[in-house]
Amino acid sequence: MELPEVEVVRRDLEKEVVGRRIKEVEVRPHRNAMRIIRRHARRKEFADLLAGRKITKVDRKGKYLILALDDGDALVVHFGMSGQFLRGTKRQSLPSHTHVVIEFQQGGDLRYADPRTFGEMFVAPADQLGKVRELDHIAIDPLEDTFTWQEFSAELGRRATKLKPLLMDQKFISGLGNIYSDEVLFAAGRRHDRMSDSLSSQEVRRLYRAIREVVLDAIRFTATTLADEAYVDLFGKPGEFQNELKVYGRTGLACRRCRTPIVTIKLSGRNSYYCPQCQS
Ligand SMILES: [Zn+2]
Repeated sequence: MELPEVEVVRRDLEKEVVGRRIKEVEVRPHRNAMRIIRRHARRKEFADLLAGRKITKVDRKGKYLILALDDGDALVVHFGMSGQFLRGTKRQSLPSHTHVVIEFQQGGDLRYADPRTFGEMFVAPADQLGKVRELDHIAIDPLEDTFTWQEFSAELGRRATKLKPLLMDQKFISGLGNIYSDEVLFAAGRRHDRMSDSLSSQEVRRLYRAIREVVLDAIRFTATTLADEAYVDLFGKPGEFQNELKVYGRTGLACRRCRTPIVTIKLSGRNSYYCPQCQS
């Protein structure tokens, strides 16, 4: 899950769970469930911190979701490689790899499923939230107003590195990943191996705009679900941005802008897609 997927889930959670009071929380009995709540020593400790609390707000910081609780604590969630939330009811059987079930007093529940268990969730006390190291990172968030092109331009010059790995660097910018980096570079007309400090100020502006546009478009089209269906929304519905992709996964197909066949190369073991005509 990358930033657009996390933001779509955040918006859905805002509609679905804000204002609901948690009745009880079940951490499933299998051992993998403990990996998901690994910052807590015991299932009961985690469950007791949530029982009776109302969810008042859902924020996002990078790829972390922060569900604010009415006692000032927060439930912090990171989906890792394959985590997802699903809305359900008691009568619906739990999907496989469900690790945590949050049941609401008003009825209905929220399940956390995660086959690969790289994701996690934990309750941070109000006075500790500012001290969570992972939430204190300084990466650029493409959706925040504080992401200005001037700041972006200075950072690009300072890094002096190839654009694709830079866009995928979570310490530089949050949540673009492999797919959105390729789409951003196409939208900006830049190649994966252009050096970040070789861009003219016009090229920097175009890249900056491309980042915002691709992320906002992806959210508008409810994010990306590839053939592996690793991402679905709260109701199990796939996203639609995969139908809008311009280069990712389109090897040999005509560029949507110039009809030149899209090419693919392997970079750090992952496929990268670009148009040899439109990108330089
Ligand atoms: Zn092209």
